Parts: sequence; structure tokens; C-alpha cells
Amino acid sequence: MSLIGGNYYFYLMKLKTYLAASLLLLSVQSFAQKEAPKSKNLVLILIDGYRWQELFHGAEYDLLTDPKYNSMDSLQRMKDFWSDNINERREKLMPFTWNYITTHGQIYGDRDSGNKVNVKNPYWISYPGRAEVLSGFVDLKINSNDYGINTNPNVLGFLNHQNGFKGKVATFACWDATGRCLDKPNSAILINVPWKEKKGGRLTWEDIKGDHLTNEEILANEIQHYAPKIFGDDERPDFAVYALAKSYIRATHPKVVYIDFGDTDEYAHEGKYDHYLLDAHNLDAMIEKLWKMMQKDPFYKNNTVFFIVPDHGRGIGDEWTSHGSSIPHSDETWFMVWGPGIRPLGVVNTPEQIYQEQYAKTIAQILGYHYHLKDRTIGKSITSVVN
Ligand SMILES: [Zn+2]
Repeated sequence: MSLIGGNYYFYLMKLKTYLAASLLLLSVQSFAQKEAPKSKNLVLILIDGYRWQELFHGAEYDLLTDPKYNSMDSLQRMKDFWSDNINERREKLMPFTWNYITTHGQIYGDRDSGNKVNVKNPYWISYPGRAEVLSGFVDLKINSNDYGINTNPNVLGFLNHQNGFKGKVATFACWDATGRCLDKPNSAILINVPWKEKKGGRLTWEDIKGDHLTNEEILANEIQHYAPKIFGDDERPDFAVYALAKSYIRATHPKVVYIDFGDTDEYAHEGKYDHYLLDAHNLDAMIEKLWKMMQKDPFYKNNTVFFIVPDHGRGIGDEWTSHGSSIPHSDETWFMVWGPGIRPLGVVNTPEQIYQEQYAKTIAQILGYHYHLKDRTIGKSITSVVN
């Protein structure tokens, strides 16, 4: 009897263990299903102040033909950027976007079809725009590009805390304000920017640091210092940022990279429309080259999502050069995303309203994480991207 009782007890315990294990497995499965990552890696790219008008329509005739906004050869720039056909025109400006992303990913912000993407913060300028994108909420006290250190949490810092991501999150940016926006002095992530280590010191364009740099990284470090400082010490040109980011990605394989470009905004403020277009054209090519390089790398192949955003829009007509709360329409933006698990919807023409404060949560969810904060309401994730 005691033996039977012992066996009974033994089997009962086994059954209990089995049930507990099954329940655990079920809960892990349902958790994994809820937060199943679409992708293991993600590249977030910001194109400062690039308008949805050029993205969707290509070059604008009145601006392209106005001598006060252009200095390049007029016949050549018409040949490079103009066509009476809107599809050909936008493809001339951004061929990778219109040949590849439209067939493999999603492009939002085509206001012609009622798909609206907007800045949520009320300032419509660069630092508050970046803060909104990266933190996933609007902090009204961040109201100027001269704002100091932003100690608010952001999605890059959040991801760097997740298993397998520690030390695998990196930022390469054109502008020192991005360093302030990401709390560079206190951040655990790599933030490579124009930076001033000491108060009163000079801003220097940071090199990639390390004892075992590749030749490509060494060259990227070197050439940035030969670039003319046309935008001042606090902002380096896009090609330099690209070379640093690309060489670092190839050498070090970060899982999340934020690349922050700024020439489009600078040329627009200077009223140089042809330069603004040429930079957009070059960025389209850089994004293509980076994407193709990463698709050849087993570390990134078929498990990397690209997410491209601006930080604000610009005005229309002669106000195209400017942006800010006093410039109508400069809160109108766009974004695009492609990679594994992202449905190839092309230009999304569903009438809807999206705000850029929704990117942070969406980015985290693509990687399988639920980005939330105790004391802040984060913009909700964009369902057509994450579903
Ligand atoms: Zn900006």
C-alpha cells in the first residue's frame, strides 16, 4: 500500500511538473507571440527637414527654375531632376526609394491620398523633433535647438538595456545637438557627433575610437577632417557621417544604429534648392549602398529593418526654405520602413493620421520589445507597420 501510495505520489508529482512546464511553455509562447520580433537588427535614419513634397512629387518646377534658388547649370539640373511625368520625376530624384522601397516596404505621408504624418510637438524645429522621435513623447520644455542636455529616456537607451543589445547600439550624427538630445555625457550607448568635451573648448568632429580599427574606419576618421566646415563646427556633412557609420557597421556589427543626416536642412535654409535636391539624391544612393552591403553580410542579411524619418517639414512656395511654428505646413512629414516582416504595401494610401511620437514604440516592437515608461504616455505603435 505504502509502495502504491509512493508511486501514486511520484506520478502525481510528475504530472504536476508536466502541467507546470506546459503552462510555462504556453505562457512563454503567448508572450513570444505577443512580442515576436520581426527583425533582429534595425537602422534608423533621420533626414533633417526633407519635405514630403519632394519625396512624393520630385523636384518642384517653380523652385527648380528660379535663379535665386539655384547655382548649378540650369540645363543640367533640368536634365537631372525634371520630367513632366510625376512618377519619372520622383524616381529621378530618389531612384532607390521608388524602385526598391515601394516594392519591398511602406511609405507614409502621401497627403494627396489623405495619408498624413505630422510632427506632434508645437515647435516644428530640429531638436524638439529629434527628441519626439527618439523618446516617443513630446516634452514641451524642449523648445529650442540650443536646449541643453535632454535627460528624458529614449528608445535607443531602452534597447541598449535589453538582452543581447548591450553595447550593440550606436549613433552617428551630423550635429552636436543630437548628442545633447541623447544625453551623451550620461549615455551608455556609442554616440559619435561633433562634440565639445570641456566647456569653452572647441567642438571637434569625433572619430571612431579603438585600438583595432579597420582601414575603412581609419579612412572615414581621416576624411571627415578634410571636409570644408561650410555649416560651422557644430555640423559635419552627410558624406562624413555616412562613411563613419558604414565603416563602423561593417567592422563592429551593432544591432541598432541611428544615423542622423543634416545637409538637406542646411541647404534649404540657405535657399539652395539644387544642392538640397542633390543631397536628397545622394542620401537615397547612400541608403541603397548601405542596405545592399548589409544584405551581403550574414550578420544582417534578412534580419534587418530600415526606418527612415525626417524631424519636421518645411513651408511651401517661397517659405520652402524655412520651418517652425510660424511657417504653415512645416509640421507635415513622412516616413518609410522596409525589411523582414514589414508588409510590402508600397505607398500607403489609407487616409489616417500618424504622429512622429509613434516611431519609438514602433521601432521597439519591430525588435520584439514593449517600450513603455512609468510616468509618460508613449505614442502608440503604428499598426500597419508592426502587424
Ligand atoms: Zn531639422
